[in-house]
Amino acid sequence: WCIRLCRSCNDSRSNLMYTYYISVGSNIGNRRQFIMSAYDSLSIHPQVHGITSSSVMETEPWGYTEQDVFLNAVWRVSSSLEPHDLLDVLQSLECEAQRKRDIHWGPRTLDLDIVYALSDDGACMYINDARLVIPHPYFWDRLFVLEPLLELDKEFTYNGESIGDRIQTLKK
Ligand code: ADP
Ligand code: MG
Repeated sequence: WCIRLCRSCNDSRSNLMYTYYISVGSNIGNRRQFIMSAYDSLSIHPQVHGITSSSVMETEPWGYTEQDVFLNAVWRVSSSLEPHDLLDVLQSLECEAQRKRDIHWGPRTLDLDIVYALSDDGACMYINDARLVIPHPYFWDRLFVLEPLLELDKEFTYNGESIGDRIQTLKK
C-alpha cells in the first residue's frame, strides 16, 4: 500500500527509490580512512536509505599506471536522490577528502563514480550529458569495479552477459 500511496501523491518523483552502484577508489594518504569516512557520511544522508559495501580490495592502477596502488570497493545504495543530485553529494564528499583534480586518472584521495543505476521498476537507467554518464562507460572493462560488484550481486548482468563470465574474459 505504501508504494501505491507514494505513486499517487503529487510529489511522487521525490518518493521514487533508485538503486545506485558507486565505485570507490583511493590511492593517496590514509586510503581506508578516506573511504570509511565517506561511507559514514553517505550512510547518514537523509535521502540515502540503505548502503551496502563490498569488501575493500587492493588493486593495481589502471590507465595512468605510474602511481601507487589503489584501494577499491563498490557500494550499493537505495536513494530517492535523482542521479545528478547524488553526483553533487558524491562530489562534496570528494571535496571533503581534499581531492585535487590534476592528472586525468591520476592519484586521488577519493574517487566516487556512479557506475550503474536502476530506477524503482528495476530498469537500467541511461544518462548521457555533460556532467553525468551512466552506465559509466568503462565499468564493464574494469576488474577493480567488477570484482567488488560481484561480491555485492552475484546475479549481475549487463547487456545479456553475466558478471562472472565478464570477469573470466577480462582475466584471460
Ligand atoms: P575519473 O573518475 O574519470 O577519474 P573525475 O573523478 O575527475 O574523473 O570526474 C570527472 C568528471 O566526470 C566529473 O566532474 C563528473 O561530472 C563526470 N562524470 C561523468 N559521468 C560520471 C559518473 N557516472 N560518475 C561520476 N562522475 C561522472
Ligand atoms: Mg570520478
